[in-house]
Amino acid sequence: MEAVNKQALFKKIPAVDRLLSDPDISETTGSYPRTLVIKAVHQVLDHIRARIRDGELSVESQLSIESVSALVVEKLKELSLPSLRPVINATGVVVHTNLGRSILTDRALRQFKAIAGGYSNLEYDLDQGKRGSRYTHVEDILKELTGAEAAMVVNNNAAAVLISLETMAKGREVIVSRGQLVEIGGSFRIPDVMRKSGAKMVEVGTTNKTHLSDYEEVLGPDTGLLLKVHTSNFQIVGFTEEVPLSELVKLGGRYGIPVMDDLGSGCLVDFSKYGPAKEPTVQETLSQGADLVTFSGDKLLGGAQAGIILGRKNLIEAIKKNQLSRALRIDKLTLMALGETLRLYRDERTAVREIPTLRMICEPYRSLKRKAERLVKLIGKLKTQNFSVELADGNSKAGGGALPLLELPTRLLCLVPGNLSSRFMENWLRTYDPPVITRVEKERVLLDIRTIQERELKTLAQAVNNLATLE
Ligand SMILES: *Cc1c(COP(=O)(O)O)cnc(C)c1O
Repeated sequence: MEAVNKQALFKKIPAVDRLLSDPDISETTGSYPRTLVIKAVHQVLDHIRARIRDGELSVESQLSIESVSALVVEKLKELSLPSLRPVINATGVVVHTNLGRSILTDRALRQFKAIAGGYSNLEYDLDQGKRGSRYTHVEDILKELTGAEAAMVVNNNAAAVLISLETMAKGREVIVSRGQLVEIGGSFRIPDVMRKSGAKMVEVGTTNKTHLSDYEEVLGPDTGLLLKVHTSNFQIVGFTEEVPLSELVKLGGRYGIPVMDDLGSGCLVDFSKYGPAKEPTVQETLSQGADLVTFSGDKLLGGAQAGIILGRKNLIEAIKKNQLSRALRIDKLTLMALGETLRLYRDERTAVREIPTLRMICEPYRSLKRKAERLVKLIGKLKTQNFSVELADGNSKAGGGALPLLELPTRLLCLVPGNLSSRFMENWLRTYDPPVITRVEKERVLLDIRTIQERELKTLAQAVNNLATLE
């Protein structure tokens, strides 16, 4: 009996041509490209068929031309939205890779329009009136800030590690501690990058302990590089030992083998001064004698996606000449954003104030508490059974593989379920316009104040009010 019903419903689905020639549809969809209208019609009809099949649609009136055209118009709006959209990060993870890592400083945003919307001296030497190098735009500032002999930038830090290994050790051996064979974000694994570079990885030590003698034992005529990798997103605690960089440098020096340190996050300021824990800075790493240092432009540095390579002039020159540099080269907009971010580091206090990533990580609890109170005030008194609002203490994270164990004390706005479940609220906020990304803990929806921007408070308060008035 039911199967017959479904068959009958399938027959009532309006035909594509019928829909496309309907005057109502052509009027409401007139401003959209014809191909998009056809796409929307097909998607809506596919969805209707699936719903009939699953028994979710059993009322014939839902198949009227009016009902279906309303769905087509909805679908067209959805298809016309940009795919990449701004979201509100209420997760409390400052450098959130899935949400775009770092927010750019206002200085970079101001330059964006000029550089993106016009020609620039990207690879043109204005003094000489001839071809220049794109790297010059950040080389000097990187050297000035870090004391490095030379600098080079590529598409991201994965690329920085790849091109450095390829240049230094293709067909040769690279010695690395077993405790540092990390995987970062699922697709970057030290052993895999090593293989791609054509270098042969020689693992030494054990997961928890590696001694200098372990390196020395395997050193030989084929050794091209000693590699140290920041373990980033995890930490081995307890009975552990790693060889300090300075010791590796001494060993390398004795045998004439360069030492490379992949710092991952690579920060230029000492965070311990501002509260959060100690992370080795780029300057310290270079002054300890690393021959090459690599790190990301959009983790703790707070700039755009890029990979920065610093170190000895002859090594950087060789990396620049590597054919891979063309394939891995940095885009002009990234280069501009990176340069503008780096220039702020000339005055550390300006950097901490104006680079959003640094500002958020260093924002003290008392200031977050006041921001939370402002949000509660904007939300106002809610007369709803849907949920209740509370403030609580919690912890945010730096993210991006930096300072993995560090917990930053923060304030949370909690939505405590009433008529609405926490799952429903999380999903509703995530599909709101703009989407609000939260986390659910102990049946509560938590919004971490640290990563919510001041300019987003009003929008967020409105979202909470809309959720409160849901029937
Ligand atoms: C994050 C990270 C990378 C990869 O950097 P991307 O900028 O994501 O390409 C490489 N090495 C370490 C140690 C990292 O933490």
